[in-house]
Amino acid sequence: MHIRGAHTLVCGAGGFIGGHLVNKLFEEGAASVRAVDVKPLDEWYQQNPTAQSLVLDLQEKDACLKAAEGVDAVFQLAADMGGMGFIENNKALCMLSVLTNTHMLMAARTQGVKRFFYSSSACVYNGDKQTNPDVVALKEEDAYPALPEDGYGWEKLFSERMCRHFREDYGLETRVARFHNVYGPLGTWTGGREKAPAAVCRKVLEAKMSGNHEIEIWGDGHQTRSFMYVDDCTKGVVDIYHSDILEPINLGSSELVTINQLVDIAEEIVGIKLKRNYNLSAPKGVNGRNSDNTMIQQHLGWEPSIKLRDGLARTMAWIEQQMLASVTTTR
Ligand code: NAD
Repeated sequence: MHIRGAHTLVCGAGGFIGGHLVNKLFEEGAASVRAVDVKPLDEWYQQNPTAQSLVLDLQEKDACLKAAEGVDAVFQLAADMGGMGFIENNKALCMLSVLTNTHMLMAARTQGVKRFFYSSSACVYNGDKQTNPDVVALKEEDAYPALPEDGYGWEKLFSERMCRHFREDYGLETRVARFHNVYGPLGTWTGGREKAPAAVCRKVLEAKMSGNHEIEIWGDGHQTRSFMYVDDCTKGVVDIYHSDILEPINLGSSELVTINQLVDIAEEIVGIKLKRNYNLSAPKGVNGRNSDNTMIQQHLGWEPSIKLRDGLARTMAWIEQQMLASVTTTR
């Protein structure tokens, strides 16, 4: 089922990636996009006026049936999630997303949905393969034997398998991507759920605005990660959705940086140098993680087009606007 001309549903559309995906589906020629999130509409990061925007709690089966009615293609991104600070301290909440994923799959089957895309995560990968900052990039097969991130990662791994079994047993066409850190404007940048790139942008801007030229970094700053700009992510989602790749596939950048290097780039964008205070007891996740993109390059020729420096500059500009706006409204 091609996106062009299809009636589509984005679950989690009030969130970061879901909001961008709604726009992307219209660009791809979707006949309609139903955008669903549990958050009140005024808390969505963006709302496309052409989409049908609905507030529904997709942990409830009836809400899923309503969301999937008359839909050809489901993009299931709704989840309770956040950066390491959030997922390490909210394991039960993260695992409750199993209700959303399971009920959405059941509803998709009942409503005759033709294709179902699910956003999994690099947190499904075996922790023993991520103990060294000098990482060997993670290949799709490295999820097994299973030792995923406790809570959030286990739920993602379980839901990946649910997708597989719904495909094998019930004929629902499922596609699964394992997102590696995604960043960009119109996403969480404060409040405790933000991930490293947004948190670093905010902290650097706070230092600049307050004149207190210090920054707290979680961990020793040597942990390595790769970061994918959100436009590369939504392009990858569309490509994977259209593909014949039945097994979960990596969708991430392979441009590896340490957290210290991420801070270097952020400082350079803002034109500031900060004293770094390392908080070794803060949650910091695995020591090293990178995406092996062999499979996605071979099958789809996909690779990220936006360099970290450029994407971070765009993210920084947006976060700065939000910070200035919140200062103005609280005055
Ligand atoms: P996000 O938190 O901005 O968006 C998720 C949205 O889902 C939120 O708006 C939330 O309100 C909504 N939601 C949660 N429970 C719901 C429910 N019961 N009913 C309806 N809506 C509900 O997160 P994001 O960064 O946009 O992530 C989107 C997806 O991608 C998630 O599944 C996440 O696990 C996955 N992912 C993201 C990243 C990343 O770096 N951002 C990395 C790996 C995987």
